[in-house]
Amino acid sequence: MPHGELDTRSLMTITHRPDLVFLRGEGSWLHDDQGKTYLDFVQGWAVNCLGHCPPEIVEALSRQARVLINPSPAFYNEAMIELAGLLTSHSVFDRVFLANTGAEANEGAIKLARKWGQIHKGGAYEIITFEHSFHGRTLATMSASGKPGWDTLFAPQVPGFPKARLNDLDSVKALIGPDTVAVMLEPIQGEGGVIPAEADFLQSLRALTHAHGILLIVDEVQTGMGRTGRLFAHQHAGIEPDIMTLGKGIGGGVPLSALLAREEICCFAPGDQGGTYNGNPLMAAVGVAVLRRLLSPGFLESVEGKGRYLAAALSRLVIQHRLQGERGSGLLRALILDTDRGPALVKAALEHAPQGLLLNAPRPNLLRFMPALTVTEGEIDQMIALLDELLRSTRGS
Ligand SMILES: *Cc1c(COP(=O)(O)O)cnc(C)c1O
Repeated sequence: MPHGELDTRSLMTITHRPDLVFLRGEGSWLHDDQGKTYLDFVQGWAVNCLGHCPPEIVEALSRQARVLINPSPAFYNEAMIELAGLLTSHSVFDRVFLANTGAEANEGAIKLARKWGQIHKGGAYEIITFEHSFHGRTLATMSASGKPGWDTLFAPQVPGFPKARLNDLDSVKALIGPDTVAVMLEPIQGEGGVIPAEADFLQSLRALTHAHGILLIVDEVQTGMGRTGRLFAHQHAGIEPDIMTLGKGIGGGVPLSALLAREEICCFAPGDQGGTYNGNPLMAAVGVAVLRRLLSPGFLESVEGKGRYLAAALSRLVIQHRLQGERGSGLLRALILDTDRGPALVKAALEHAPQGLLLNAPRPNLLRFMPALTVTEGEIDQMIALLDELLRSTRGS
C-alpha cells in the first residue's frame, strides 16, 4: 500500500515522522514503500549492532519461538541463564538482572544503589549525575538525566539527582555529602552529543568514589556491547565500576537490557525487583546470539579498525569543508559542523535520491554516526561521498 493511503491518525504524535514507511532491511540498508533504498547510519538508534535482520538473530528468534517464549519471570529458563553467564564471565560483574529497555535497567540501577544505601550508608540515596547526560524516559531516569528542560517537563522531578559537570572532578567533589550513595555516568555521553568522559576523569572518579565508600555506576546502554571497539567502554580507562547497565546493542534490535553488579552490591531481596517480561527466553536467546558474535575472533578488532577508518574519513571532511572537528570512540562518532545545519543535513540526506542516507543530529551543530558494527569500509565510503555532496549543497543554510 503506498504511504499516501495510510491513515496514521490512530497513533499518538510523539515525534514528527517523515512521510514514508519502511518495509524491509538487511545489513546497513533499508527499503521503503516507494521502492527507495537508504544507507542506515542510525540503525534504530544504535540498537541494530549486527545490522538489519542478521541471520543469527532471525535464527535465534525462530528457534526459541518454537520451544519456549515465556514461562514467566518466576522460573529459570535456559536462555536467561546462558546470557547472564556470558555477561558475568566477560565483565567484572558477578550478577545480572535482565530487563527490556535501557531506562528500565537504569531504573533498576537506581533502586539497587538506594537499597544498598539503606543497608550500608545510613539511608544515603543521592546519586550524582551529569549535565547533558541521558539515562532514559521514565520519571526517575528523566530526573537523573541532565537534558536541559527536563527538570520542569512532567514536574515534579524524582528528587536525589544533583548534577555535576563532565570531566570536572571538583564539581563532583562539591556535591558529595552524607546523603550521597553513588555517582552515575555514561562513559561517552551519546544523546548529549558524543562527549567522552576522559580516561583520567573516569580513573579519578573511581578513586574518589572508593575513598568516599560510594558506588560508581556506568550507563553503557549506548557505549556497551562492542560499540567502541571494546566489549564495554569503561574498559578503555581500565576501571572497575560497581554497577553497569546495558541496552540497545545487547538486543540487536529487540527489547532487551541488563543490569549488572558486583556480588557485594547485590542486595535486592525477593520481591524488590521484577517485571513480567524480565529474562524472557525469546529476547535472552537473541542476547546470547549477539554476544557470541561480538566475542567471535577478530570481531571487536574489526570494530576498532572501522572506527579508525570512519574517523579518518570524517577528519578529511573536516579539512575539506572547514568544519569544527570529529570525535568519538569506535563506531560511535560525531562530526562537529561549522553552523547549526545538522537538522537540514539530516533532512537532505533522508530525501536524497535515488538513494537516501539516515543520519542523526543530537544537537543542531553536529551529526552522530552509529552504524551497524558489521558496516563495511565500502559502505563508510558511500556514506562519506554522499555526506560530502550534501555538505556542499547545504553550505551556508
Ligand atoms: C538510549 C539510552 C537510554 C535509554 O534506553 P531506552 O531503551 O530507550 O529506554 C539510557 N541511557 C543511555 C546512555 C542511552 O543512550
